[in-house]
Amino acid sequence: MRYLTYDVGQGPRLGALRGDSIIDIGQLMGNGPTSLLELIQAGPDRWKAVAERFAQVKDSDLNIANLVLPYDEKIVLAPIPRPLKNVLCLGRNYYKHFLEGAVARGEDEKPPEAPIYFTKATTSVTGPFSQIELDETVTKKLDWEVELGLIIGVGGRKISKETALDHVFGYTVINDLSARDLQFKHLQWYKGKSLDGSCPMGPVVVTPDELPTPLHIPLRLRVNGVTKQDANTGQMMFDIATQISDISVALTLEPGDIISTGTPDGVGAFANPPEFLKPGDIMETEVEGIGVMRNEIVAAPQA
Ligand code: MG
Repeated sequence: MRYLTYDVGQGPRLGALRGDSIIDIGQLMGNGPTSLLELIQAGPDRWKAVAERFAQVKDSDLNIANLVLPYDEKIVLAPIPRPLKNVLCLGRNYYKHFLEGAVARGEDEKPPEAPIYFTKATTSVTGPFSQIELDETVTKKLDWEVELGLIIGVGGRKISKETALDHVFGYTVINDLSARDLQFKHLQWYKGKSLDGSCPMGPVVVTPDELPTPLHIPLRLRVNGVTKQDANTGQMMFDIATQISDISVALTLEPGDIISTGTPDGVGAFANPPEFLKPGDIMETEVEGIGVMRNEIVAAPQA
Protein backbone atom coordinates (compact mmCIF):
# COMPACT_ATOMS: atom_id res chain seq x y z
CA MET A 1 0.00 0.00 0.00
CA ARG A 2 1.06 3.56 -0.73
CA TYR A 3 -0.83 5.69 1.77
CA LEU A 4 -1.09 9.47 1.65
CA THR A 5 -2.96 12.26 3.38
CA TYR A 6 -4.79 14.74 1.18
CA ASP A 7 -7.06 17.74 1.59
CA VAL A 8 -9.45 19.13 -1.01
CA GLY A 9 -10.73 21.85 1.31
CA GLN A 10 -12.73 19.74 3.75
CA GLY A 11 -9.94 18.76 6.09
CA PRO A 12 -7.33 16.00 5.88
CA ARG A 13 -8.39 12.58 4.55
CA LEU A 14 -6.60 9.26 4.23
CA GLY A 15 -6.04 7.93 0.73
CA ALA A 16 -4.03 5.25 -1.01
CA LEU A 17 -2.51 5.49 -4.46
CA ARG A 18 -3.60 3.29 -7.31
CA GLY A 19 -1.71 4.44 -10.38
CA ASP A 20 -2.44 8.15 -10.75
CA SER A 21 -5.60 7.95 -8.66
CA ILE A 22 -6.19 8.47 -4.96
CA ILE A 23 -8.69 6.06 -3.41
CA ASP A 24 -10.28 7.49 -0.28
CA ILE A 25 -9.83 4.85 2.40
CA GLY A 26 -12.60 6.11 4.68
CA GLN A 27 -15.10 5.85 1.81
CA LEU A 28 -13.72 2.53 0.66
CA MET A 29 -14.17 0.98 4.08
CA GLY A 30 -17.55 2.62 4.64
CA ASN A 31 -16.89 4.39 7.91
CA GLY A 32 -13.28 5.43 8.29
CA PRO A 33 -10.44 5.47 9.03
CA THR A 34 -10.06 9.08 7.97
CA SER A 35 -6.45 9.54 9.07
CA LEU A 36 -3.27 7.51 8.81
CA LEU A 37 -2.78 7.73 12.55
CA GLU A 38 -6.27 6.28 13.12
CA LEU A 39 -5.48 3.41 10.77
CA ILE A 40 -2.10 2.70 12.37
CA GLN A 41 -3.60 2.70 15.86
CA ALA A 42 -6.33 0.27 14.74
CA GLY A 43 -3.68 -2.46 14.46
CA PRO A 44 -2.51 -5.13 12.01
CA ASP A 45 -5.90 -6.85 11.51
CA ARG A 46 -7.39 -3.57 10.32
CA TRP A 47 -4.38 -2.90 8.03
CA LYS A 48 -4.90 -6.30 6.46
CA ALA A 49 -8.64 -5.69 5.99
CA VAL A 50 -7.94 -2.37 4.27
CA ALA A 51 -5.33 -3.92 1.98
CA GLU A 52 -7.69 -6.76 1.03
CA ARG A 53 -10.56 -4.39 0.29
CA PHE A 54 -8.20 -2.12 -1.67
CA ALA A 55 -7.09 -5.07 -3.80
CA GLN A 56 -10.72 -5.67 -4.77
CA VAL A 57 -11.15 -2.20 -6.30
CA LYS A 58 -11.86 -2.64 -9.99
CA ASP A 59 -11.11 -0.27 -12.84
CA SER A 60 -14.87 0.21 -13.20
CA ASP A 61 -14.96 1.53 -9.62
CA LEU A 62 -12.56 4.33 -10.48
CA ASN A 63 -15.28 6.73 -11.61
CA ILE A 64 -17.26 6.55 -8.37
CA ALA A 65 -17.54 10.09 -6.99
CA ASN A 66 -16.06 10.71 -3.52
CA LEU A 67 -14.19 7.40 -3.67
CA VAL A 68 -11.61 8.33 -6.27
CA LEU A 69 -9.83 11.52 -7.25
CA PRO A 70 -6.84 12.26 -9.46
CA TYR A 71 -3.44 12.54 -7.78
CA ASP A 72 -2.43 16.19 -7.53
CA GLU A 73 0.62 17.42 -5.63
CA LYS A 74 -1.32 20.51 -4.55
CA ILE A 75 -3.64 18.49 -2.29
CA VAL A 76 -1.01 16.23 -0.67
CA LEU A 77 -0.11 16.87 2.98
CA ALA A 78 2.45 15.19 5.23
CA PRO A 79 1.21 11.62 5.87
CA ILE A 80 0.90 12.44 9.59
CA PRO A 81 0.48 16.23 9.55
CA ARG A 82 0.71 16.52 13.35
CA PRO A 83 2.49 13.55 14.94
CA LEU A 84 1.67 12.58 18.52
CA LYS A 85 5.30 13.03 19.56
CA ASN A 86 8.42 14.74 18.33
CA VAL A 87 10.06 13.09 15.35
CA LEU A 88 12.88 10.93 16.72
CA CYS A 89 16.05 11.39 14.68
CA LEU A 90 19.42 9.75 14.26
CA GLY A 91 22.47 11.99 14.00
CA ARG A 92 25.67 11.09 12.13
CA ASN A 93 24.38 7.66 11.08
CA TYR A 94 26.22 7.42 7.75
CA TYR A 95 30.00 7.16 7.95
CA LYS A 96 30.80 9.62 5.16
CA HIS A 97 28.46 12.20 6.70
CA PHE A 98 30.02 11.63 10.10
CA LEU A 99 33.45 12.05 8.48
CA GLU A 100 32.63 15.27 6.59
CA GLY A 101 31.48 16.75 9.91
CA ALA A 102 34.46 15.48 11.88
CA VAL A 103 36.88 16.91 9.31
CA ALA A 104 35.07 20.28 9.31
CA ARG A 105 35.14 20.40 13.13
CA GLY A 106 38.74 19.16 13.28
CA GLU A 107 37.63 16.25 15.45
CA ASP A 108 38.60 12.63 15.85
CA GLU A 109 37.56 10.50 12.87
CA LYS A 110 36.52 7.56 15.01
CA PRO A 111 32.79 6.98 14.40
CA PRO A 112 30.26 6.97 17.27
CA GLU A 113 29.95 3.72 19.18
CA ALA A 114 26.26 4.25 19.93
CA PRO A 115 23.48 5.93 17.96
CA ILE A 116 23.06 9.69 18.45
CA TYR A 117 19.43 10.67 19.08
CA PHE A 118 17.67 14.03 18.97
CA THR A 119 14.14 15.13 18.13
CA LYS A 120 12.30 17.63 15.95
CA ALA A 121 9.20 19.41 17.28
CA THR A 122 5.83 18.17 15.99
CA THR A 123 5.20 21.70 14.70
CA SER A 124 8.15 21.39 12.31
CA VAL A 125 6.26 18.89 10.13
CA THR A 126 5.13 20.22 6.77
CA GLY A 127 3.90 18.88 3.45
CA PRO A 128 6.01 17.23 0.75
CA PHE A 129 5.26 20.04 -1.71
CA SER A 130 4.84 22.93 0.74
CA GLN A 131 6.78 26.15 0.49
CA ILE A 132 9.24 26.58 3.36
CA GLU A 133 9.60 30.02 4.85
CA LEU A 134 13.15 31.13 5.51
CA ASP A 135 13.37 33.87 8.14
CA GLU A 136 16.88 35.24 7.80
CA THR A 137 16.51 37.13 11.11
CA VAL A 138 16.35 33.66 12.75
CA THR A 139 18.83 31.65 10.66
CA LYS A 140 21.31 32.39 7.89
CA LYS A 141 22.44 28.77 7.67
CA LEU A 142 19.46 26.63 6.67
CA ASP A 143 20.68 23.27 5.35
CA TRP A 144 19.17 20.13 3.80
CA GLU A 145 19.25 16.46 4.90
CA VAL A 146 17.53 13.69 2.93
CA GLU A 147 16.52 10.80 5.17
CA LEU A 148 14.52 7.60 5.14
CA GLY A 149 11.68 7.96 7.64
CA LEU A 150 9.94 5.05 9.28
CA ILE A 151 6.59 4.90 11.03
CA ILE A 152 6.11 2.53 13.95
CA GLY A 153 3.01 0.34 13.54
CA VAL A 154 3.17 -1.98 16.52
CA GLY A 155 4.48 -0.46 19.70
CA GLY A 156 6.67 -2.11 22.25
CA ARG A 157 9.46 -1.94 24.78
CA LYS A 158 12.75 -3.86 24.73
CA ILE A 159 12.10 -4.97 21.16
CA SER A 160 14.69 -7.45 19.94
CA LYS A 161 16.72 -6.73 16.84
CA GLU A 162 15.40 -9.94 15.31
CA THR A 163 11.74 -8.88 15.57
CA ALA A 164 12.26 -5.11 15.17
CA LEU A 165 11.10 -4.88 11.56
CA ASP A 166 7.76 -6.47 12.51
CA HIS A 167 7.06 -3.21 14.36
CA VAL A 168 7.30 -1.03 11.24
CA PHE A 169 4.09 0.19 9.61
CA GLY A 170 5.79 1.81 6.64
CA TYR A 171 8.45 4.09 5.24
CA THR A 172 8.45 7.66 4.00
CA VAL A 173 10.81 10.45 2.94
CA ILE A 174 11.92 13.13 5.40
CA ASN A 175 14.03 16.24 4.89
CA ASP A 176 15.65 17.03 8.24
CA LEU A 177 16.12 20.74 7.54
CA SER A 178 18.65 22.15 9.95
CA ALA A 179 19.46 25.70 10.98
CA ARG A 180 23.18 25.09 11.49
CA ASP A 181 23.88 28.38 13.28
CA LEU A 182 21.21 27.55 15.90
CA GLN A 183 22.03 23.82 16.00
CA PHE A 184 25.64 24.48 17.02
CA LYS A 185 25.07 27.67 19.05
CA HIS A 186 22.66 25.96 21.46
CA LEU A 187 24.69 22.74 21.92
CA GLN A 188 21.49 20.69 22.09
CA TRP A 189 20.24 20.36 18.53
CA TYR A 190 16.52 20.64 19.31
CA LYS A 191 16.00 24.33 18.51
CA GLY A 192 18.04 24.37 15.31
CA LYS A 193 16.25 21.24 14.08
CA SER A 194 12.74 22.37 14.97
CA LEU A 195 12.01 25.54 13.01
CA ASP A 196 8.44 25.71 11.69
CA GLY A 197 8.35 23.93 8.33
CA SER A 198 11.72 22.24 8.82
CA CYS A 199 10.40 18.68 8.56
CA PRO A 200 8.87 18.08 5.11
CA MET A 201 7.51 14.53 5.03
CA GLY A 202 5.90 12.33 2.37
CA PRO A 203 4.62 12.21 -0.28
CA VAL A 204 3.48 8.72 0.73
CA VAL A 205 4.00 6.05 3.36
CA VAL A 206 4.88 2.78 1.66
CA THR A 207 4.25 -0.48 3.49
CA PRO A 208 7.24 -2.83 3.80
CA ASP A 209 5.76 -5.47 1.45
CA GLU A 210 6.22 -3.02 -1.45
CA LEU A 211 9.90 -2.41 -0.77
CA PRO A 212 12.99 -4.63 -1.06
CA THR A 213 14.42 -6.66 1.84
CA PRO A 214 16.92 -5.70 3.11
CA LEU A 215 15.91 -2.12 2.61
CA HIS A 216 18.98 -0.97 0.72
CA ILE A 217 17.65 1.77 -1.54
CA PRO A 218 19.10 4.95 -3.04
CA LEU A 219 18.36 8.31 -1.43
CA ARG A 220 19.18 11.64 -3.01
CA LEU A 221 18.72 15.36 -2.64
CA ARG A 222 18.94 18.00 -5.34
CA VAL A 223 18.93 21.77 -5.00
CA ASN A 224 17.84 23.58 -8.18
CA GLY A 225 18.45 20.36 -10.10
CA VAL A 226 22.04 19.91 -8.82
CA THR A 227 22.64 16.65 -6.92
CA LYS A 228 23.98 17.35 -3.42
CA GLN A 229 23.42 14.01 -1.69
CA ASP A 230 23.47 10.60 -3.37
CA ALA A 231 23.81 7.48 -1.22
CA ASN A 232 22.08 4.25 -0.23
CA THR A 233 20.19 3.37 2.96
CA GLY A 234 22.33 0.22 3.13
CA GLN A 235 25.21 2.48 4.20
CA MET A 236 23.70 3.32 7.61
CA MET A 237 26.06 2.57 10.49
CA PHE A 238 23.14 1.65 12.78
CA ASP A 239 20.51 -0.07 10.65
CA ILE A 240 16.77 0.19 11.16
CA ALA A 241 16.46 -2.94 13.27
CA THR A 242 19.28 -1.75 15.51
CA GLN A 243 17.67 1.67 15.91
CA ILE A 244 14.28 0.25 16.95
CA SER A 245 15.84 -2.26 19.28
CA ASP A 246 18.31 0.19 20.81
CA ILE A 247 15.89 3.04 21.51
CA SER A 248 13.12 0.72 22.78
CA VAL A 249 15.44 -0.58 25.48
CA ALA A 250 15.04 2.79 27.11
CA LEU A 251 11.58 3.99 26.15
CA THR A 252 8.29 2.60 24.87
CA LEU A 253 7.69 2.99 21.15
CA GLU A 254 4.06 3.56 20.24
CA PRO A 255 2.01 3.22 17.05
CA GLY A 256 2.50 6.32 14.92
CA ASP A 257 5.93 7.20 16.29
CA ILE A 258 8.24 8.47 13.57
CA ILE A 259 11.96 7.78 13.32
CA SER A 260 14.14 9.67 10.84
CA THR A 261 17.09 7.41 10.23
CA GLY A 262 19.91 9.86 9.51
CA THR A 263 21.37 11.63 6.51
CA PRO A 264 24.28 10.73 4.23
CA ASP A 265 27.13 13.04 3.23
CA GLY A 266 26.65 16.05 1.01
CA VAL A 267 25.03 18.56 3.35
CA GLY A 268 25.68 22.23 2.66
CA ALA A 269 27.39 23.07 5.96
CA PHE A 270 30.36 20.83 5.20
CA ALA A 271 30.73 21.73 1.53
CA ASN A 272 33.79 23.73 0.54
CA PRO A 273 32.85 26.53 0.58
CA PRO A 274 29.74 25.99 2.76
CA GLU A 275 26.43 26.49 1.02
CA PHE A 276 23.03 27.28 2.52
CA LEU A 277 19.47 27.59 1.27
CA LYS A 278 18.12 30.90 0.02
CA PRO A 279 14.72 32.11 -1.17
CA GLY A 280 13.89 30.74 -4.60
CA ASP A 281 15.79 27.48 -4.12
CA ILE A 282 13.91 24.29 -4.92
CA MET A 283 14.85 21.11 -3.07
CA GLU A 284 13.95 17.70 -4.43
CA THR A 285 14.25 15.05 -1.70
CA GLU A 286 14.03 11.48 -2.92
CA VAL A 287 14.10 7.96 -1.60
CA GLU A 288 13.85 5.51 -4.48
CA GLY A 289 10.70 3.38 -4.40
CA ILE A 290 8.95 5.82 -2.06
CA GLY A 291 8.89 9.14 -3.87
CA VAL A 292 10.21 12.63 -4.39
CA MET A 293 9.28 15.71 -2.35
CA ARG A 294 9.65 19.16 -3.89
CA ASN A 295 9.87 22.14 -1.55
CA GLU A 296 10.56 25.73 -2.51
CA ILE A 297 12.27 28.09 -0.09
CA VAL A 298 10.53 31.45 0.19
CA ALA A 299 11.39 34.53 2.23
CA ALA A 300 9.31 34.75 5.41
CA PRO A 301 7.20 37.90 5.52
CA GLN A 302 8.64 40.42 7.98
CA ALA A 303 6.17 42.09 10.38
MG1 MG B 1 19.38 14.45 10.16
